[in-house]
Amino acid sequence: MAAAEDYRTQIAQVSYRNQAFINGKFAPSASGKTFDRISPIDGKVLTKVAECDKEDVERAVKAARAVFEKGTWSQMAPAQRKRILLKWVALIEKHREELALLETLDVGKPIANALAVDLASSIRCLQWYAETTDKVYDELAPARPDSISMITREPIGVVGCVVPWNFPLLMASWKLGPALATGNSVILKPAEQSPLTALRVAELAAEAGLPEGVLNVLPGFGETAGQALGRHMDVDMIAFTGSTEVGKYFLRYAGESNMKHVALETGGKSPNIVFGDVADINHAAATAAAGVFYNSGQVCTAATRIIVQEKIKDQFIELVAKHADKWRPKDPLDPKTTMGAMVDESQMDRVLGYIDIGRKEGAKVAFGGERARRNTGGFYVEPTIFDDVKNSMRIAQEEIFGPVVATITFKDDEEAVKIANDTIYGLQASLWTRDITRAHKVARALRAGTVNINSTDGGDITAPFGGYKQSGIGRDKSLHALEKYQQIKHTYIQL
Ligand code: NDP
Repeated sequence: MAAAEDYRTQIAQVSYRNQAFINGKFAPSASGKTFDRISPIDGKVLTKVAECDKEDVERAVKAARAVFEKGTWSQMAPAQRKRILLKWVALIEKHREELALLETLDVGKPIANALAVDLASSIRCLQWYAETTDKVYDELAPARPDSISMITREPIGVVGCVVPWNFPLLMASWKLGPALATGNSVILKPAEQSPLTALRVAELAAEAGLPEGVLNVLPGFGETAGQALGRHMDVDMIAFTGSTEVGKYFLRYAGESNMKHVALETGGKSPNIVFGDVADINHAAATAAAGVFYNSGQVCTAATRIIVQEKIKDQFIELVAKHADKWRPKDPLDPKTTMGAMVDESQMDRVLGYIDIGRKEGAKVAFGGERARRNTGGFYVEPTIFDDVKNSMRIAQEEIFGPVVATITFKDDEEAVKIANDTIYGLQASLWTRDITRAHKVARALRAGTVNINSTDGGDITAPFGGYKQSGIGRDKSLHALEKYQQIKHTYIQL
């Protein structure tokens, strides 16, 4: 990996793709409007990006629909679709350093993470779904012997993907992989904070041979471009990742337009339960710190509530604080940096606001709690640990989306589960114990799409990911995600 200075030299050579990508070509927004992309590393403008709106959505939907109806992609032989998708993956791999740098500049995450996690996982995801293209079979139902009862899958049509800024390329890949592998046309709206990698990979897709109109990218704002997609009468599905609040808007848009399918991956407030019999308390504390401070806490599954058995609380908090020290924000372009910037000034202010709320609610700051690296002009917050938190407090109930963890204590298993489940969210949960019976019993009782035992992150592309309760509807990743992007048809033949 290059050094920070090498990355600084590379920045001068970066050529930003900053127009909309519609029907296989870059074009300015219909209105000609642009918006500034400000890097959170230093608060400076990187480039001006096309601000798409209703008219651009109209153009993109027309292109996506036309190619879908023509069948150029939707009816292409699966093996041929796979070849094009794998060629795209190879191009992304070839440009991984450039894409990682774009991601770091756009959202301020450490360059080492952008390479080792964002790029590596995006590549693996797109490759994995490309491979499914000619490996998933349709079915015959065990119906009457004088019939053939076929269950076949068809692409759903035009899919709008609306994604957030915390893992821009990876969140997009979780949608693009299965949506494209199953033959759909896609319109991707990246978050306003992170359009750069989406635009670049769309260009690479065209280079790989993806037909025009199959992948369109519209940078712009949620309330305009996002809403226009959500309300469009000719969009068949929305695949969304973002906040619970905006997820609910998409349900409303669908209800008020064409009843399009809506798949949602939304917020979280994940519990991390540490029992007194934890096998390695230091390892659990290091993992608890990583589980909440990674990506500056801007992770939907971040283990933001440490729910620790009363008798080991003081020792555990002390150890988490020791590890928190390794997560102090530093220069995102330095390959040794573990924690970078918050995505923008308003996110930083929001997080500092919650730290204030926590103090006023009576919780005690046991570590951090302040803005950091102010002199850089960028937006950084210290890793922050709250002690003496009650689960009813706002800092324990609301998604902060920053490097802030709340510590809550419990006496017995029943109380631990009760506190863990006392939230509107249900995305992920973790628990630490050496008692296998307890582990299974508690895991069963937890209302979450993913439960980690003696870990906080067991995620892999081969396993489904999604939420119970207000953390979402449907699943990303694994073969389970494919069905979201398909209609299931039953064809009955009387013999
Ligand atoms: P938002 O919900 O604010 O935005 C997500 C996307 O929706 C963006 O592209 C945004 O556009 C768009 N959007 C915003 N408002 C509207 C609207 N009124 N109509 C249509 N579209 C709209 O989330 P953030 O980008 O702030 O991301 C953070 C959130 O994402 C957190 O709550 C986090 O938990 C969640 N998340 C969930 C994950 C999961 O898999 N469950 C994974 C990652 C994040 P714009 O940027 O222009 O506003």
